[in-house]
Amino acid sequence: MKIIESRKILSLLPSVITTSSFGIEKDYNYFSLRTKLEILAVISGMKHVYYDAIQLPERDSSNSSSLIDPEDESILTPKQIFGLDVLRQLESLAPRMQLLVKRTNFPRINFLEATIVPSHIVAAHSRTILFGRVIWLYLKHKTEDLIEKVLKGNLWLGQVLGYPSCCVRWSASIRTRFLEGGYNYFISTNNNAEEWDVLNYLHSFKEHYPGSEIIRAEVDSNILETWNKYPFVPHWACPSCLNGESDTTAFQNEKFSELALAISSKFHDDIINESKKVVQELRKYYNESTKSD
Ligand SMILES: [Zn+2]
Repeated sequence: MKIIESRKILSLLPSVITTSSFGIEKDYNYFSLRTKLEILAVISGMKHVYYDAIQLPERDSSNSSSLIDPEDESILTPKQIFGLDVLRQLESLAPRMQLLVKRTNFPRINFLEATIVPSHIVAAHSRTILFGRVIWLYLKHKTEDLIEKVLKGNLWLGQVLGYPSCCVRWSASIRTRFLEGGYNYFISTNNNAEEWDVLNYLHSFKEHYPGSEIIRAEVDSNILETWNKYPFVPHWACPSCLNGESDTTAFQNEKFSELALAISSKFHDDIINESKKVVQELRKYYNESTKSD
């Protein structure tokens, strides 16, 4: 794909394109710009696939509303409706971007192997924790095999998205710590819990239990530091990449930065400036919320 075509595609993409806000309510322009760069990276062959997902309300077997379509807008939040619309727009733009598109359910979530949580609970939890719609945009048919492997749990999502393996592992370690903390908390406060109760709790705890805020603060700080230091990469950098022990994220940041610059210096500079804005605003917000606790 020539640069001139990439510029055309950039102008075709919806102005607000991000659906995953990491629990942040505001749609910062930085997220949309970086998402656009990520899609252009797929078009240019720099990475295999772009992935976006929107969580939807689940069919609940104990509830008569289980028969309704999860995409029925009357049961969705404005953010979910908006997210679904973004996915549909990307889907319909795919042919003009010369990309292939696939719509699936959520892939399995990966946890680290050695955990204090029984492996059958981890397996059931990783299959069921997320429900919603996912789209994949990719350049070549052979990428479908990789997507299939991710959906079956034979390949980690971060791997097919081209994230550095150290960072993929760090994300999994964080999820595992949340899971272990939630599991321990529930088991210690519910003596005769059945497996079903445990799974139900893990499904609903949304990473909040006494002590979970320590892990949450660590994650928040890593994310902000990633955006500050490596504003062009789509993943969250691990501590090794942030403290310089590993150079994989720095290397990827350089590649993405070069692509942005080739498209236009304004696009490149906007990403840097908008990332600074987000980091500054969220650092202030986090500092204030820890003070008021
Ligand atoms: Zn890393």
